[in-house]
Amino acid sequence: MQLHPVPDLPEIEPGDDLATMIAERAALEPGDVVTVASTVVSKARGRTADLADFPAGPRAVELAERFEALTGEEKDPQFAQAVLEESTEVIVETPFLLTETCFGHTCVNAGIDRSNVPGHDLLLLPKRPADRAAEIRAGLLERADGLDAEAADQIDTAGSDGAVPDGIDEVGVIVTDTCGRPFRHGQRGVALGWAGMPASRDWRGETDRDGRELGVTVQAIVDELASAANLVTGEGDDGTPAVVVRDFDFGDHAGGAELFRSIEKDQVRQALREWSYE
Ligand code: GDP
Ligand code: MN
Ligand code: MN
Repeated sequence: MQLHPVPDLPEIEPGDDLATMIAERAALEPGDVVTVASTVVSKARGRTADLADFPAGPRAVELAERFEALTGEEKDPQFAQAVLEESTEVIVETPFLLTETCFGHTCVNAGIDRSNVPGHDLLLLPKRPADRAAEIRAGLLERADGLDAEAADQIDTAGSDGAVPDGIDEVGVIVTDTCGRPFRHGQRGVALGWAGMPASRDWRGETDRDGRELGVTVQAIVDELASAANLVTGEGDDGTPAVVVRDFDFGDHAGGAELFRSIEKDQVRQALREWSYE
């Protein structure tokens, strides 16, 4: 597998057409997966904001006060308000805000970034990253010389309600973010939305080297590819938000559509919920 950063992308402005910009700078081939950092997807959609856009309501003020009482550090109630507005549920309130975003991803501060946002305080995550991935994929199929435009009419989105493609359907697109994780230090890349490929590949029913049947292994390939690409993307001023993943072999496996656990099937989130509200 190879990872190629897409070179020479400029500072992304609201209204920019990322698919065209990528197609002009990368010679794509069938089977490629293109990862795009949510930062630039958000910039292209004008998802920048300022703290002043989020006058703090009573809940945000209370969260900020509790945070300060607990940690002795200041928290801007307007920032807490922005996180609340970007979330459907608060899972942990202090010492950090762990929430479920409107599209089902669970992370700290609703993924709102304060770095790489020239001229503004905040960069909000895309509202519907799967739709953005589908849009970029359709644009790439239409514009990239090496790809079959007809594929654009086939399956667009590998969402939970859409059909799951059989491996990579001409080209896959993953919108990524850098995200912390519980239990371990350090951040890594994760997939927020994807199109033209399954979320996972299912090893269940296949055998290990001893002939033992695998019972539970569903490999979250969109996250693994997002992490791999994030190594090339960098986190600072590299200016390489898009990466072409070439020669990833999906292999002969069934594909799965789902990545985000629903709260009913998520024991850890349920436990955190009870702990947080005790
Ligand atoms: P996130 O992981 O989606 O939150 O994004 P990061 O802030 O980690 O940025 C990912 C990569 O995109 C880094 O290499 C940044 O330097 C780069 N980047 C961020 N904004 C822009 C932009 O507007 N244009 C270009 N060319 N690169 C950008
Ligand atoms: Mn981010
Ligand atoms: Mn990052």
